Amino acid sequence: AKAEGKGRFRFYSSDMTQRQERRLELEAGLRTAIADRVFQVYYQPKQSLKHGSVAGFEALVRWPHPELGLISPADFVPLAEELGLITQIDMLVLEQACAMGKACLEAGHRVTMAVNLSSLDLKSLELVESIRSVIDASGFPAEMIILEITESFAMELGSGGIEALERLAALGVSLAIDDFGTGYSSLSYLKQLPVGSVKIDRSFVRDIGTDSRDTMLVQTIVGLAHSLDLSVVAEGVEMTSQRSILRDQECDEAQGYLISRPMPAGDVLAFLQAEEMA
Ligand code: C2E
Ligand code: CA
Ligand code: CA
Ligand code: CA
Repeated sequence: AKAEGKGRFRFYSSDMTQRQERRLELEAGLRTAIADRVFQVYYQPKQSLKHGSVAGFEALVRWPHPELGLISPADFVPLAEELGLITQIDMLVLEQACAMGKACLEAGHRVTMAVNLSSLDLKSLELVESIRSVIDASGFPAEMIILEITESFAMELGSGGIEALERLAALGVSLAIDDFGTGYSSLSYLKQLPVGSVKIDRSFVRDIGTDSRDTMLVQTIVGLAHSLDLSVVAEGVEMTSQRSILRDQECDEAQGYLISRPMPAGDVLAFLQAEEMA
C-alpha cells in the first residue's frame, strides 16, 4: 500500500508540473496572440420573440491555437482575467464586432452588437476612453452596441465602477446584465445602474416547461424586469417548446442553439440574408 502511495504521489507531482508547464505555455501563447491579434470572433444571433426577426448578435471570442486548435473562451478567459490581459482581448473583440455591425448596416441589416466585458475591466476609467475611441474609429453607432457585464460583477461594483458605467452609458451604448439569476442581486439594485436589459441565465431556461418552479421564476423575472422598463433576453434556448413558453411569457428575445450556434464572421451576412427570405 505504501509503494502504491508513493507511486501516486509521484504521479500527482508530475501531473502538477505538467499543469504548471501548460499554464506557462498558455500564458506565453496568450501574450503572443494578443500582440499578433489572432483572436477570432464568432457571432450568435438573438431573435426577437415578437417579430421573429434577428435583433442582434453577441460577439464571442475564440483563440485559434497552432497546436490545440480553436480554444473556447471557458479555457482561456479566466487565465486572461487573472493575468490582467482580458481588457486587451475585449478591445480586440469590440473592434471586430463594430466592423461586423457596420458591414451588416451597409448590407441593409440593422442589428445590434453585444460584447462581453470582464470583471477586471471596468475598474478603470481609462477603459471608457478606449471604448470610446474604438467605437468612434469604427463608424458603427454607439446606440447599436450592447456591453454585457455579469450580474456577480455588477454586484461588486464600487462607486468608481458605477461612475465608469455611467460614463459608458453617456456614450450612447446600452448595458446588459449577463447570467442574470445566478448572483442573488435584486432588480431594484440593478435599476440604479444604467442598464437596459437582463439576460436570464441558461440554467433557468433549461428546465422551462418541465420544472414548474423554473417556469414561474422566469415568468417573475420577465414581469419584474418589464415593470422596471428593462428588456429581457433568454439564453441557452435549445428547444421550440422553450421558445414558445418564453414567447407566451412575453420575454423579448431568445438566444441559443435553436436559433443558431455561434458562427464565424464570414457566415453572418448570408445568415441574415437567409433569415430575411424565410
Ligand atoms: P456567456 O457570455 O454567457 O455566453 C454564452 C455562452 O453560451 C457561449 O459560450 C455560447 O456559445 C453558449 N451558448 C449559446 N447558446 C447555447 C445553447 O443553446 N446551449 C448551450 N449549452 N450553450 C449555449 P462560449 O462562446 O463558449 O463563451 C463562454 C463564456 O466565455 C461566455 O459566456 C463569456 O462569459 C465568456 N466570453 C466569451 N467571449 C468573451 C469575450 O470576448 N470577452 C470576455 N470577457 N468574455 C467572453
Ligand atoms: Ca454574454
Ligand atoms: Ca450569459
Ligand atoms: Ca453564462
